[in-house]
Amino acid sequence: MFIIGLTGGIGCGKTAASDWFVAQGISVVDADVVAREVVAIGEPALFEITQTFGDWALLTDGSLNRAALRQHVFEHPEDRKKLEQITHSRIYSAMLLQLQAAISPYVILVSPLLLESGKAGLASLCQRILVIDVPESVQRTRAGSRDGQTHESIDRIIAVQIHRNDRLTLADDIVLNDGELVHLYVQLQVVHETYLKMCAN
Ligand code: ATP
Repeated sequence: MFIIGLTGGIGCGKTAASDWFVAQGISVVDADVVAREVVAIGEPALFEITQTFGDWALLTDGSLNRAALRQHVFEHPEDRKKLEQITHSRIYSAMLLQLQAAISPYVILVSPLLLESGKAGLASLCQRILVIDVPESVQRTRAGSRDGQTHESIDRIIAVQIHRNDRLTLADDIVLNDGELVHLYVQLQVVHETYLKMCAN
């Protein structure tokens, strides 16, 4: 398995880039999507969450009340640990299964948290790290116009993510997404061809 870890801060263009890879026939495993799948209705992790925290953690349709749980663990750090104990190993196993099921010459693993533990955590699964990078001013504008989030809330997210300089230091490949989408795609084409050559060797 030749795994390329794709990361970047909020609003940098990870989804735009991973959609481009999908269009080229490259399998993409998205850690955020997997994290939602393991707590879907009927999954053992959802059952365990309600056993641990109570039924308030569910919406009326039986799905996870993500906003309430997020707020709860923000206010109760010890419960964040309990939640992570329920979800982390399941997310990891599900991600590995999806990576192993990939049929393209290489596979992209997307996560905003890829480099949270330097190269020791999720990044250790990857042969190369591709960072999609934009200046913070562009992050604020794009994430703000996408979600309607205030600059203050975007700044709070930027503050808890790995610092841009540290992320760039850990990157093997950097794509600067500060222009038109076509500019992003031209650069992705170059790294895509490099990855195809690498995995052919
Ligand atoms: P998050 O981590 O917050 O999920 P992300 O890194 O996946 O963000 P995207 O959702 O791909 O970022 O991009 C953020 C927003 O910026 C989206 O609305 C996207 O359409 C837009 N965008 C991405 N790249 C460009 C670009 N080159 N030009 C204009 N808009 C862009």
